[in-house]
Amino acid sequence: MEKQHKVSIWYVVMGVWVVLLLQQYIASMFAVEVIPYSRFLELIHENKVSEVAVSVNQIQGKLKTDNGGKEKKFRTIRVDADMSQLLKSSDAVFKGEIQSNFMATVMSWIVPTALFFGVWFYLMRYMGKQQAGFMRLGGNKAKIYVQDELNISFNDVAGVDEARQELVEVVDFLKSPGKFSELGGKLPKGVMLVGPPGTGKTLLAKAVAGESGVPFFFISGAEFVEMFVGLGAARVRELFDQAKLKAPCIIFIDELDALGKARGAGFVGGNDEREQTLNQLLVEMDGFDSTLGVILLAATNRPEILDPALLRPGRFDRQILVDRPDKKGREDILNVHLKKIKVEEPLDVAAIAAMTPGMVGADLANLVNEATLLAVRKSKNAVGLPEFQEAVERVIAGLEKKNRLINPKERRIVAFHELGHALVAMNVPGADPVQKISIIPRGIGALGYTLQVPTEDRFLMSRSELLAKIVTLLGGRAAEQIIFNEVSTGAMNDLARATDIAQSMVKEYGMGETLGNVYYARKRKAQFLDIMPDGAAEYSEQTAQKIDEEVKKIISQQYDRALDILSKQHKTLEQAAEILLKNEKMDAAQIEELMKTAS
Ligand code: ADP
Ligand code: MG
Ligand code: ZN
Repeated sequence: MEKQHKVSIWYVVMGVWVVLLLQQYIASMFAVEVIPYSRFLELIHENKVSEVAVSVNQIQGKLKTDNGGKEKKFRTIRVDADMSQLLKSSDAVFKGEIQSNFMATVMSWIVPTALFFGVWFYLMRYMGKQQAGFMRLGGNKAKIYVQDELNISFNDVAGVDEARQELVEVVDFLKSPGKFSELGGKLPKGVMLVGPPGTGKTLLAKAVAGESGVPFFFISGAEFVEMFVGLGAARVRELFDQAKLKAPCIIFIDELDALGKARGAGFVGGNDEREQTLNQLLVEMDGFDSTLGVILLAATNRPEILDPALLRPGRFDRQILVDRPDKKGREDILNVHLKKIKVEEPLDVAAIAAMTPGMVGADLANLVNEATLLAVRKSKNAVGLPEFQEAVERVIAGLEKKNRLINPKERRIVAFHELGHALVAMNVPGADPVQKISIIPRGIGALGYTLQVPTEDRFLMSRSELLAKIVTLLGGRAAEQIIFNEVSTGAMNDLARATDIAQSMVKEYGMGETLGNVYYARKRKAQFLDIMPDGAAEYSEQTAQKIDEEVKKIISQQYDRALDILSKQHKTLEQAAEILLKNEKMDAAQIEELMKTAS
């Protein structure tokens, strides 16, 4: 496979060099020696001149050559006004001339330059047709690469087997679109890769492109967001038009969150341009059907801020979680990157994987690199376990701010806390279904997490659904209380969110018990719960007090409810925690299994 050609500075340097060479060559064809007038007179007297052209200011001529040598030209500044007498005395041919070396200039500069541009345009067009073409959209700087060939395959992506499995299906479809539609199969239009940074989302998308061998439109969400309103939308339109022409193909929008932020959630005054671009994206997604063979891939590490409209059926209807790798996954990823370096055999890769909980693919790639550097520094000819141990320490020191490594006691607390959320969610009606629980640390303040997927795009929520959200949020702390008889600081974020919801219920939705159907928030806020309006209160002290009481009441009622649910699930809680502590993560099906056997 051929590597992608880039238009680099070297092409320009080479071009300039060629122009200079040509210029010199052509100029030499017109090469003229400048001589003093006195020397010219001498030459005439010696009868060595064969031809003379006289213009107002200068005289150009050719010297006689002795039998077929190269003709020499000369030039001199004219001094005498009248020369005909003088010239007659020699046998040189002479004529008058108006301009003399204009042509030489023209030829030696214009021709090579024109040639250079000709070649340049040809190259551009050639590459446009070849694999690495790029085109300008909306007359703008962002490029869209159409790469028929990428050197990345699924073998380069490890430790994310579930995500890989799902994408294999997409590749199959792109390889033989006919097969799927014949069977009446329907493929998702949009596939969204969701996961923390550095877990290999971009890499996976490239692997899909590499394996399917179809054109790959790669663009970052941020590149759509333009200074001028409307440009981004135009670019989206053009992108989809191009893609339809090239089908089957893949459009990959990296960092979709830059573009797909929930509408109305931005700064004051909003962001018209982004909203327009997003709307255009939604329109385009609705306007093509997947039998065309255009698949839209996107990646984001902040799914929570995405506009819910993007996640509706018919749009990004399949979400693939690209999670932090577990121990086995880390081992696989290390093996991928170890292939590229020389290691001491045998190397205990499992031991390295065990040292690196919480690290993602990018961290591990960095780790291997760091270990190699250390080996080079020690002038060893292969990288061994000691280098990896040292590298782990270095990398962890670097990551410390980002990713706290937690001790076993904290790990237990985190496990029970997360299970608390999950078990409560699974036992109250109206809560979002639990998908996955993980205690692989993911940044400060979030030592573990429970992933819940909203079933649908919601515009209306009932009181019981809001309460279900609150009780689920409080489930973490309730589990800690039940198991350890003590609570930790880990619930701060949960409490903040639960309180926000309770406040909205009382102040905005008229769902309190004593305050009635009155709207107490000053500014009308957006539909979604996580967007809080700012501004001072416009109600009396007494009302404020009542609001506080109501909020407190809702929270404490729901906390009791969570405690109640979890005490009934005590056995499941203990059993699940054991599995979670061992495997670092588990999914909802496993917990359901335990719930069944426990009851
Ligand atoms: P993301 O897009 O999720 O932030 P990237 O795909 O850009 O992460 O990953 C950055 C680099 O980290 C990759 O180029 C690769 O070298 C390494 N990497 C990340 N995840 C994996 C993985 N699952 N397997 C192998 N290498 C990985
Ligand atoms: Mg990325
Ligand atoms: Zn929590």
